[in-house]
Order: sequence, then C-alpha cells, then structure tokens
Amino acid sequence: MDASQILTSFNTSIAEIDIALTTPCYLIPESLRANKDKFYTLAHTYPEIQTRLIHNMKYCSTNTMIRRAVRDHWFDFHLNDFNRQTRVVPPEDTKLMNKYFKAFNRIFFFGALTTDRYSYRLERNVPGIRGATSDVRLDHAGAVEHHSPKSIKCITALYKKPDTTDESLRLKGYVETLLHEMLHAFFNLFTCLCETCMGMTEKERREKTKTAGASGHGMPWHMVAQRIEEFVKSRLKCELDLDREWIMAQDIYESRMRVSKASVLFHFKELGMSYESIKQKVEKIRLDGESRKAD
Ligand SMILES: [Zn+2]
Ligand SMILES: [Zn+2]
Repeated sequence: MDASQILTSFNTSIAEIDIALTTPCYLIPESLRANKDKFYTLAHTYPEIQTRLIHNMKYCSTNTMIRRAVRDHWFDFHLNDFNRQTRVVPPEDTKLMNKYFKAFNRIFFFGALTTDRYSYRLERNVPGIRGATSDVRLDHAGAVEHHSPKSIKCITALYKKPDTTDESLRLKGYVETLLHEMLHAFFNLFTCLCETCMGMTEKERREKTKTAGASGHGMPWHMVAQRIEEFVKSRLKCELDLDREWIMAQDIYESRMRVSKASVLFHFKELGMSYESIKQKVEKIRLDGESRKAD
C-alpha cells in the first residue's frame, strides 16, 4: 500500500459529532437491563463496549460459543488460508466474504451484528480508500427520527482493489478492511452518542480519545483492534493488519497535533506502537500530501 492509499484509508463519518447535541441520551444502566448479556442499540458506554469485547477474547478458552465458532466457522472452511480460498473463487465472491463476516461476527462480536442492523457490500474502487462505515445517525444530519435505538443501522462499503493483481493478497486486504469496519460498526450501533456520553465540555472534547476520537479511532477502538490482531495471530493462525499505526499517523497529521503529545494522549506503548515508526509515517503522509499539491 503506498502513502497515497493510506492517506484517506478507512475513513468513517463519525467526525460529525455535533449532531449529538440535538439527540437524547439512550444509555440503559446495567441494573435496568432485562438481559445482562445482550447488547442494546445505543445503550452502552464506550468503556463498557471496550471491556466486554476484550474480556470476550481474553476468556475465550472457557467460552463455548467462541470455541465452536473458531472450529466450525474458521478452521473447517480453512479461512486462514487465502491462497486456498482464491484457487476456488475470486476474492470478490460474495459467499466467500460472507463466510469471513459470519466467523468474525461470532468470534469477536457475540453475533450481535445482525442483518437487520448491519450490512456491507463491495463497491467500485475509490482510490485511496479501502473501506468506510456510515452510521445512519450521522448521514441524516438533524433528522432525529433516524437516531433512535429502533432505527439505527450501519453500512460498510468495501472498495474493490483491482490493482492488487495477486488474488490472495487482494482477499486478505478485503478481509482486513471488513474486520476493521465491523469494529467501527459495533461501536456505532451500541454506544450512545449524546452530548453527555460523548463529553461536550471543553475538557471532555480534548479527551475525546476516550470515546470515538476524531475519526472513529479513539482509544477504545485502538485497544480492541490491538487485541483482535493478537487473537487472530495466536488463535486463528493468520495475520491480519488492521492498519492501526497508519490510522494513528493519519489522525495525528490531520489534527495538526505533535507526535509527542499524541503519544501521551493515546498511550502508544499500551497499544504496542512504536513512537519512531508513527513519527516516520506522519512525515511520509505530510511529504506525500505536499508532493501531490505540487503536481
Ligand atoms: Zn477506521
Ligand atoms: Zn447518552
């Protein structure tokens, strides 16, 4: 992937958080939930979602649903072997992508990304973007009727990358993007984005890293994404790169923040990220932007 591709990769539209000012709070305190294990749309806080997703992976060995999903939906279909998959069908095969979606949904997301709430589709190539997840709340600015626990929906676009001629690499790219976007969708569907939950005081705005961050990649997203990468490597016997460092570099570049300040706000070490590597990436994005302006 070259720098121009990275520049706008994995965009999400969560930045238009101002809409939250007009929306009520849909949070449901744990004590009032009929079923403690269930996920209710718009009803949870960011920290709660983060904790539950990570807990689910951490204690997977005692969780029958995950163990079965890993066996029946991942290894039985040999989904870790991208070469094998693309010998039979092209990477753009809908049924194949659906197998990955089903496996991820069961392994990482409690099967809660149901078809009435979430959908994804492969779309025509848009240079520089691998995927995008939009949230109905944010797509219809001011249309409060769309922002309710009943109507909330999320849609992911995965952009075809015909320039990647190696089919197994192309499939791997789609699968990485799908997983990256499913994590966005999960946060979008199940967290409340009202002003109280998002934090709208000056101090809280500065600390938005604790919720959605500037582009949907706040600390909760990063923390879970890191654990997912580890889980994929150790339990699913495959390596998937969710583009965490590039996304971090992109967000730093766009917010005009110093890398040193970002390293404190985002706890690079905790995320297993290298300060030097992020600094280099920010520089590469800057240089690439400048050379394009000069064209
Ligand atoms: Zn993203
Ligand atoms: Zn709220």
